Amino acid sequence: MRSIPNRLQAILKNIRESEQHFNRPKNSVKLLAVSKKQSVDSIKQAYESGQHAFGENYLQEAMDKIHYFSEEEISWHFIGKIQSNKTLAIAENFDWVHTIERGKIAFRLNEHRAKMKKVLNVLIQVNISGEESKSGVSLEAFPKLVAYVKAFRWLKLRGVMGMPAQYNSFELQCESFAPLTKAMNLHRHKFDSLSIGTSQDYKAAIAVGSTMVRIGEGLFGPRQK
Ligand SMILES: *Cc1c(COP(=O)(O)O)cnc(C)c1O
Repeated sequence: MRSIPNRLQAILKNIRESEQHFNRPKNSVKLLAVSKKQSVDSIKQAYESGQHAFGENYLQEAMDKIHYFSEEEISWHFIGKIQSNKTLAIAENFDWVHTIERGKIAFRLNEHRAKMKKVLNVLIQVNISGEESKSGVSLEAFPKLVAYVKAFRWLKLRGVMGMPAQYNSFELQCESFAPLTKAMNLHRHKFDSLSIGTSQDYKAAIAVGSTMVRIGEGLFGPRQK
C-alpha cells in the first residue's frame, strides 16, 4: 500500500486536474483531511507533507488530537453531529463547524465565541431527502436557518455542507449533489464554501462546484474500529 505522503500528493494532483477538466478556477478546491478514527501518527505524516486542515467527527477523540498538536498550525473542522451540551468544547477547539442544522446550536456557538471575541466559520448542513442518515436541515427550512445564523456577530456563515448517499456512477454522484448546489446558488453572492465530496465522489463534487472536499480513507487508509 502507498504511504500517506504519496496518497496526499496523488489526491492533490487529482484535485488540480479535476479543477482544470471541469473549468473550475485553479486552486478553488481545498482538501480537508478527515482524520476521524485515524492515529496521531497518520495525522503527523499528512501534516509534515503539507496538509494543514483536518476534519473530525467525535469530540473527545478530536480534543485529544487537538491537544497533541497544539503547537502546530492546524485548522480543525468539526464535521460530526452536534449535541447542544457539546457546543462549548466545539467553540473552544475548532476553527470551522460544517454541521449546523438547528438554530439552537448556532445560538450557543455564537454565545461561546462572543466570550472569546473570535469569529467562527460555519456551514449549514443540508439534508438530501431519502438519505439514510437524517442529518441536516431540509431544503424547505434552509432559508429560515440561513437568515437566523447570518444575524450572529461571532459566526461567519461561509456556505453549505452535505453528505448524500454513495453512488458508483459519476452521473448519479453529480445528481445526488443537486439539492446542495441549489442551496448554495440561492446565496452565491454571499457564500464562498461548498463542502461536498468524499473519497468516493470528490471528482463529481468538483464538477458541480465543491470548494472543499472531505477525504478520509482515500488518504489515510481504513479507519480503526
Ligand atoms: C467520514 C466522513 C468523511 C470522509 O469519508 P471517506 O469515505 O473516508 O473519504 C467525509 N465527511 C463526513 C461528514 C464524514 O463523516
